[in-house]
Amino acid sequence: MFTNKPLCEVCGREPATMFVGFKSAADDQVARWQFVCRNEPADESEAFSIADIFASPSATVDMLAHLHQTGRMDWQPFMDMIARLRSSTITPA
Ligand SMILES: [Zn+2]
Repeated sequence: MFTNKPLCEVCGREPATMFVGFKSAADDQVARWQFVCRNEPADESEAFSIADIFASPSATVDMLAHLHQTGRMDWQPFMDMIARLRSSTITPA
C-alpha cells in the first residue's frame, strides 16, 4: 500500500493499523487523530482500519463522507494526521 509501512504514533515499533480520533474534554468534537497499532487502547470515539479505508476508492470516500456527516468533525487535526502519515511512508531520496 505504501512504500514504507507507517509505524504506530504511540509505541513507534508496531505497524499502524488504525486511524483513531479522540474527543476533546470540552465538547463533542474529535480533537486529536493518530495512526496506531492494534495494541493501543481502543477507547477512542472514532476508529477506522487503515486497510479497510484504502481497500478501494469508494471505501475512502465513504469514510470521509461518514466523518463529515457526523457534524462534529474538525478537519484540521485529521488532515494534520494525514500529512504525518504521508511523510512517514515516503522514502527519502
Ligand atoms: Zn503501538
